[in-house]
Amino acid sequence: MSPARPPRTGRTQPVAIRRAPAGPRPGEVQVFPTDQPPEGATSPDARPRLSFAVPPARGKAPRHLADLDLAGRKAALKDSGLPGFRADQLSRHYFTHHTRDAAEMTDLPAGQREQLCAELLPELIHEVRALRADGGRTIKHLWELHDGVRVESVLMRYKDRTTLCVSSQAGCGMACPFCATGQMGLTRNLSTAEIIEQVRHAARLSAEGGLAGGPARLSNVVFMGMGEPMVNYRSVVAALHRLIDPAPQGFGLSARGVTVSTVGLVPLIRKLAGEGLPVTLAVSLHAPDDELRDELIPVNSKWKVGELLDAAHDYFRATGRRVSIEYALIKDMNDHAWRAQMLADELNRRGSGWAHVNPIPLNPTPGSIWTCSEPGVQDTFVDTLRRAGITTTVRDTRGSDIDGACGQLATEVLNQEKAKRR
Ligand code: SAH
Repeated sequence: MSPARPPRTGRTQPVAIRRAPAGPRPGEVQVFPTDQPPEGATSPDARPRLSFAVPPARGKAPRHLADLDLAGRKAALKDSGLPGFRADQLSRHYFTHHTRDAAEMTDLPAGQREQLCAELLPELIHEVRALRADGGRTIKHLWELHDGVRVESVLMRYKDRTTLCVSSQAGCGMACPFCATGQMGLTRNLSTAEIIEQVRHAARLSAEGGLAGGPARLSNVVFMGMGEPMVNYRSVVAALHRLIDPAPQGFGLSARGVTVSTVGLVPLIRKLAGEGLPVTLAVSLHAPDDELRDELIPVNSKWKVGELLDAAHDYFRATGRRVSIEYALIKDMNDHAWRAQMLADELNRRGSGWAHVNPIPLNPTPGSIWTCSEPGVQDTFVDTLRRAGITTTVRDTRGSDIDGACGQLATEVLNQEKAKRR
């Protein structure tokens, strides 16, 4: 019998302490996600609401070159009475020089430049805020889309690479209780071009020396911003083509530098494995046992840890890409050494060298039971994995001073604007 939980009277209530049934040492502290109602809940036993429904967009985004393949771009120009072959030059300006400014396209006939750009390069995303952190090596953007919807992207410069974290949806329906975007619900899917415009801006900014340390080439794109990429599968796969295909089709990034991160939609992981796009897969696991993951990641009600790791392993076999296992370390919830051992056992049982683990110190929302692990506990977690032969790299927490975690900036700006209106 599990002990009765204390009544919930709000965030100031001390957290309930329960013992997990499998694996824990006697007396070990175990905090569960449901020990506190989710952010914004109106009743104490509210649960995060998982939803696969995608609300319809309020009006379609204007047609954009990046939504179409090269043949589609040619056809679109011809339909507008323009020469189809110009699609090639226009695409190179966009994907190679990262511009949509007609004035920069001097190889196009002066009389047609404006019209060509108007047909296929409308403005899709508009900067609301740009915040710099980490001595100018991190820039976070808040973008507004044609219908007023807002999304975030984060550009990060490292020694050996420059990475952009993009959003694939406005909001998210996966309802993970520790994630700021998860609390918003899903507003809508982004179009392929709305995703690609985030990348084009970042590539341009990097090349122009917008990040501290001088000009840089954008080398990596990770789908770890707002949204669950697998729920927006079609647009995301088209975006992957634009990222990887060489100019004039796309940016020509190396597939190994592109990562799709998913909460674990098993059938779509399997589908992605068959696309012939050898991008890296990241799985947001966060718990190796169903007892905890059922509460921590609502989609675990559909696909369990075992099925998810099987699909991830099959992804590795199909693509040859080592899978990243994402694991946000949350104090007394999922950071126990026995869970590190259980995770290592689950990975090793399926083969060796096919996955590496990225523990991420939780970026906490103030005033909640969600707190990052103590440094010593984090070290033990990492050591346990490494001793079991699992490659493990703690992810650095870039931009935590600018609400770096997914969805936090959008929420913060919205609250500021609401406060102003009051
Ligand atoms: N929906 C996708 C991608 C978006 S989130 C997914 O779940 O993978 C990208 C990563 O950030 C995920 O691993 C997610 O679990 C993690 N994340 C979300 N909120 C976080 C927080 N507050 N602290 C640390 N990591 C967080």
